[in-house]
Amino acid sequence: MSKYQSVNPYTNEVFASYENSTDQQIDEAINLAYTLYKKMRHEKISDRAAILQKLADILREHKEEFAQLMTKEMGKVIGESRGEVDICINICEYYAKNGEKLLEPTPLETPLGSAYYLKQATGVVMACEPWNFPLYQVIRVFAPNFVVGNPILLKHAHNVPGSAELIAKLVKQAGAPEGSLINLFPSYDQLANIIADPRIQGVALTGSERGGSSVAEEAGKNLKKSTMELGGNDAFIVLSDADKTVLKNVLATARTYNDGQVCTSSKRMIVLKDRYEEVLEELKAHFASLKAGNPLDETTTLPPLNSEQAKEKLQKQVDAAIAAGAKVYYQYPEIDHEGAFFRPLILTNVTKDNPIFDQELFGPVAVVYSVEDEDEAISLANDSSYGLGSSVISSDIKHAQEVASQIETGMTVINGPWITSGELPFGGVKKSGYGRELSELGLMAFVNEHLVIDVTKNNQ
Ligand code: NAP
Repeated sequence: MSKYQSVNPYTNEVFASYENSTDQQIDEAINLAYTLYKKMRHEKISDRAAILQKLADILREHKEEFAQLMTKEMGKVIGESRGEVDICINICEYYAKNGEKLLEPTPLETPLGSAYYLKQATGVVMACEPWNFPLYQVIRVFAPNFVVGNPILLKHAHNVPGSAELIAKLVKQAGAPEGSLINLFPSYDQLANIIADPRIQGVALTGSERGGSSVAEEAGKNLKKSTMELGGNDAFIVLSDADKTVLKNVLATARTYNDGQVCTSSKRMIVLKDRYEEVLEELKAHFASLKAGNPLDETTTLPPLNSEQAKEKLQKQVDAAIAAGAKVYYQYPEIDHEGAFFRPLILTNVTKDNPIFDQELFGPVAVVYSVEDEDEAISLANDSSYGLGSSVISSDIKHAQEVASQIETGMTVINGPWITSGELPFGGVKKSGYGRELSELGLMAFVNEHLVIDVTKNNQ
């Protein structure tokens, strides 16, 4: 059973605890959301778009409160927490502005009659979200589905319950009708029952492969549509013609943003041999320049990981990698503090038989590979069970685009680290999951594309 608690990973202090939801509370929540779905089918999209704009304004007003809470619950540096609120404002405004237009019926050309398809709500969606972006992960699902008219039940990660409660409160404050976003604290068994409930029509999960496969299994068993946004082992390909300054600047965030706890963090640096030493040196200089400290302190650039358990898990993976022959090129000095700090690390000599070769390392560990040529770079990038994001660093953009097209991932950024915005689709292939969030594609995730065709003339 998940224990919903807020634990500050910098001090290990438990500062809030929450009771699990009762079966009755869950049933009432499903009922409320389902009743709202039926009602919203007859209401105007433009009214919901206006509420989303209001939510963006409210997030702006509550930016500092939200940022502080996220930093206390999962440890990210305060500047990044503020940045996360900004991204969420952008997403709400994107759907507030574009939702109605994107949901207009699409005409279809057919000799059989006059046809179009409507884009209608399908019903209540259960959202299971991870802790690494406590606000963003929820807004990614809530904003598009709210415009469509699908109410959301939220099961957030056990370690960010305060953020979950605050989101639900602000959504209500924005004027969203009761039932639009209901936060629950269910056990895994209760979650399975929610997914099985006939009043639920969809399941959206962002999280690990482990969580994803359990929840996708429940969804599949009950024939519920699902989207899975799972882990990644993103390749960061450095071509021989990479611009020196661009490379240096991109390396400064690619592996250490959110202390490396990003699904699309650049976990595998795949470098053409003539730039290998330079990448190692740049990364080392960047890692060594980080300042460990309290994530609420504006000058901190190296915060703790989100929890002690996360630190232990990462350490075990690293130990196994080294035991199997990986070499430590650099590790950050000892940090004399009881917080969940992990010393940033650069590993080389990771061979295909190393246990971490095909594992996601969720923290500030960069694995750097040297390759002979571009074909080997592409082949190594694709030699992964994951297929979420990737980067290509090159001065020749046309060529970088050709390389991008050969990488088996859902996203590729040229001359940059991972990126997200309301209008850009987010998601992956292979074990990184299926479906897309954000953009027009994310808006359609739980839409009923309802065909209407008039064939009167054929039957007169
Ligand atoms: P996680 O353990 O899979 O948890 C995600 C959510 O699923 C949480 O709410 C969790 O609840 C729930 N969950 C986990 N196992 C479950 C099970 N067996 N049955 C029912 N619910 C279950 O993932 P995480 O460690 O929080 O997040 C990190 C992972 O998310 C990384 O792999 C990262 O790459 C991935 N991620 C992917 C994306 C993307 O867009 N592709 C974005 C961000 C993160 P509890 O907390 O209560 O266990």
